[in-house]
Amino acid sequence: MIRVTWTGAAGLQFETGQQTILIDPYHTRVGIFHTLTRVILPDEAAISTHLPDMEQIDAIVVSHTHSDHALDVPYIAGHCDCTVVGSASLNTLMELNGLPNRVRVCSGGETVPLGESAAVTMVPTAHGLVAMGKVPFPGEIGTDSCLPMRASGYRVGTVFAPKLVIHGKTFIHVGSANFIDAEMAGHTCDVLFLCVPGWKKRQGYPRRLIERVRPQTVVLFHHDDFSKPHIKGTRTRSLPFTDIKGMVKTIERNFPELRVMVPDVYDTLEF
Ligand SMILES: [Zn+2]
Repeated sequence: MIRVTWTGAAGLQFETGQQTILIDPYHTRVGIFHTLTRVILPDEAAISTHLPDMEQIDAIVVSHTHSDHALDVPYIAGHCDCTVVGSASLNTLMELNGLPNRVRVCSGGETVPLGESAAVTMVPTAHGLVAMGKVPFPGEIGTDSCLPMRASGYRVGTVFAPKLVIHGKTFIHVGSANFIDAEMAGHTCDVLFLCVPGWKKRQGYPRRLIERVRPQTVVLFHHDDFSKPHIKGTRTRSLPFTDIKGMVKTIERNFPELRVMVPDVYDTLEF
C-alpha cells in the first residue's frame, strides 16, 4: 500500500511505511499581494506544522523551479539527509542557500534510484502557457542572484514530469499543464497526476497525454488557490477560471473506463 497525500499546489507526499518521498513540496502559500510586491521566504512555521518529521524524509524531487514548486525545498533539505533530484536551476537555488553538492542534477531522461524500492525518471516536458499564452519567468535561476528573491527570481529552469516507481507502482507527476509528445513515448503509469490550470491552452492536453501513458487512475491537482492558507479538512478553494468540471467531463467522455479523482488539499489516497 502506498499512501499519497496532495499537500497543495503541485506537492505530493508518498509514504510506504519505510520511505517518505516528496515531489514539489510547497507549504508557504505566499499571498498574491506579497508575491507581486515583495521578496518571498519559506514560512518555517507552516513547513514545520505540515512536516513535523522532516528528518525522516528520504527524497525530494522537483519538477521545476518556480516558487510554488521550489521555494520550500532548501529549507526542508537543510533539515534532513535526503536525496534531492532536480535541475541545474534547483542546484543553483540550493547553492544560494548554502547547500552545495546536494542535488542530483538532471537534464532529462535520467533515472535516479531512491533507496531500495523506488526510483524516479526525470521525463523532459514543457511548462504550461499560463501567463497570457507564455511561460512565466523563463530561463535559469542566476548564480549571481541574492536571497531573498522576489517570485520573479525563481526562474522555471528545466521542466520535468517525474515518473516515480515505488514498490512496483508507477506514478507520473505533471505539475504544469503541458507535455512533449515524443518524450512521453514509451512511458506508462498506473496513476497520472494532472495539473488543472492552463489545461485548455495546450492542444491535446489531457487527451493525447492520457492516450500515451495509459493510466488506470487520473488525479487532478494544482487547482487550489495556493496564495491562501488551506485548513486541513475544509473544501479546497480553487483558482478562478480553471473549469475543473469541464476537464473531468472531457476525460470521462474520452476515457469512460478511467477512474478520475479530484481530491481536496491534504487528502490522502491509497494505491
Ligand atoms: Zn510553474
